[in-house]
Amino acid sequence: MSTLTTSELIAWISTAADSLAEHAAELTDLDAAIGDADHGTNMKRGMRAAADAVADAEFETPAALAKKVGMSLVSAVGGASGPLYGTFFLRFAQGAGDAADLDAEALAAALDAAAAGVAQRGKADIGEKTMLDALRPAADAAKEAAAEGADITAMLTAAVAAAREGRDAVIDSVATKGRASYVGERAKGHIDPGSQSAVLLLEALQAAVGA
Ligand code: ADP
Ligand code: MG
Ligand code: MG
Repeated sequence: MSTLTTSELIAWISTAADSLAEHAAELTDLDAAIGDADHGTNMKRGMRAAADAVADAEFETPAALAKKVGMSLVSAVGGASGPLYGTFFLRFAQGAGDAADLDAEALAAALDAAAAGVAQRGKADIGEKTMLDALRPAADAAKEAAAEGADITAMLTAAVAAAREGRDAVIDSVATKGRASYVGERAKGHIDPGSQSAVLLLEALQAAVGA
């Protein structure tokens, strides 16, 4: 696949809403171990609100659509993940610019801006056991693949693999940001719920483009 249209991006959000609803219990269990047991509920509610907000609308650009998704997430989710994923999509919109469709390089730029936005908003760095541990490597892998001339399908395969690796790389770490930082050493051995939802979000994009 060479470009991503707004209808494929709507399919992404709708697929993500279904996937996060399907995995809500699993995300909440992860959050129960090192947080406050609401990540599944938060993500299910937020992505459903976002999917409903864009389902029947017409968007001139991917940026306009991503902006709507970001604003929906911010208003629907009270927890840390609402503003963080909201920022992800708002910055995705900025990274996408005014292009009518996204080619691999434009999608990589949007993912890069989105991950940078999460880092800035959360004041987080890689290795702090947050969603950024999946999002940052995914964006880097996407940029690298796009620079090598990969199409969107191949690029997303690389991005999803990097997200999973990034999530798994911090399983045995303590968290130094968010609620999981309160449990100290007890966070070791647990997957960060936000890094898992980030993997699901990227897998949904992959599924929506048929990759
Ligand atoms: P809350 O922690 O407010 O209950 P959620 O449970 O929905 O919100 O989201 C928790 C997830 O948010 C964590 O697993 C982590 O990935 C992410 N997170 C929390 N704080 C930060 C931060 N400062 N920067 C980046 N990600 C964060
Ligand atoms: Mg929580
Ligand atoms: Mg909470």
